[in-house]
Amino acid sequence: MILILSSDTRSDGAEYRQLLDHLAQLPKIKTRIHQEKGAQQTLIEIYLIGDTASLSPDAMESLPCVERVVRVSQEYRVLGRHKDDERPTHFEYNGVRFGQDNLNVFAGLCAVDTPEHVEAMMKALRDHGQVCTRMGAYKPRTSPYAFQGHGKACLPWVFELAGKYGIKVIAMEVTHESHVDEIRAALNETGNPTGVMLQIGTRNTQNFELLKIVGRQQEFPVLLKRGFGITLDESLNAAEYLASEGNRNVVFGLRGMKTNMGDPHRNLVDFAHVPVVRRLTRMPVCIDPSHSVGTRNRAPDGILEIFHATMQGVIAGANMILVDFHPAPAKALVDGPQALLMDELPLFLECVANARDAYEKNARLVGGAGRG
Ligand code: PEP
Ligand code: MN
Repeated sequence: MILILSSDTRSDGAEYRQLLDHLAQLPKIKTRIHQEKGAQQTLIEIYLIGDTASLSPDAMESLPCVERVVRVSQEYRVLGRHKDDERPTHFEYNGVRFGQDNLNVFAGLCAVDTPEHVEAMMKALRDHGQVCTRMGAYKPRTSPYAFQGHGKACLPWVFELAGKYGIKVIAMEVTHESHVDEIRAALNETGNPTGVMLQIGTRNTQNFELLKIVGRQQEFPVLLKRGFGITLDESLNAAEYLASEGNRNVVFGLRGMKTNMGDPHRNLVDFAHVPVVRRLTRMPVCIDPSHSVGTRNRAPDGILEIFHATMQGVIAGANMILVDFHPAPAKALVDGPQALLMDELPLFLECVANARDAYEKNARLVGGAGRG
């Protein structure tokens, strides 16, 4: 059960204290307090965990400070959609809105390599009106002998270049808690020229200790990639780990499943799950066509299979696209063969816009489906 407190509740007020004292006396019930700090006010929600079946929602609603009560009927307590649950399906970070009702493109390098390539990428994005990108500094690789990413050494110049070209959010994978500290330090050192969305990769979806650490900070939003060999429910529970620790600014990423049933694609594309994740949770849903498809094969209609998969995800209602580009794929240190080329960027963005228009038209036609 979730108690949503009225927006004028003060955490140092007498009524609030009275409420907490009352809750502390309820048998077999534990409380967990979530505070959402906004620009104007701090919203407080109290999660009641344990034997809540015996509690009457009406009685709880009459307690001091309580505005609304949501009875949690299923898993994903914080991030899930529940009956009569009017909690938001969006959040804002560094001036960019992430919601189930909009779409952001994160085109960029799989792995940061040279300042020249990073700058060419950022400039192309700026020239095409983009404010988000992907840039991997810490790369989890299958082989210990493969390039592992430049790590913290590249962060200052990557952030400065992002600031120079008006990039507001960089999706960047972290595989260890020290990476979060390094990112925070580099942003501070360079005067916060940009923002970072921390990415948890598919190999770490169930790294629960990493999830807890990343969930405990509320400074950076998180993109959690679906685990490539676990159920959707298990991956959604992994997202819930982040939220249960305090960070609910989470985007859920579909990136294909590891099975040879997907051959000749790198992974079996799972974008039919976009509407499923939107139905079960309040998270915006990201698709990663590059790591799903993994090749630059072109269909007989002349359209790259990566474009096709992207448009399939967008017409299904995706809210974010993470996609590999590279100015010189032959020189890329990671995933060159699946990278799109700089001169394909405007085409890609136009195809995405067409697919988004088609989705919005369909949602309006069928009615209500686009409410988000
Ligand atoms: C990536 O996006 O760079 C990546 C490694 O993706 P995934 O974790 O989905 O394999
Ligand atoms: Mn990659």
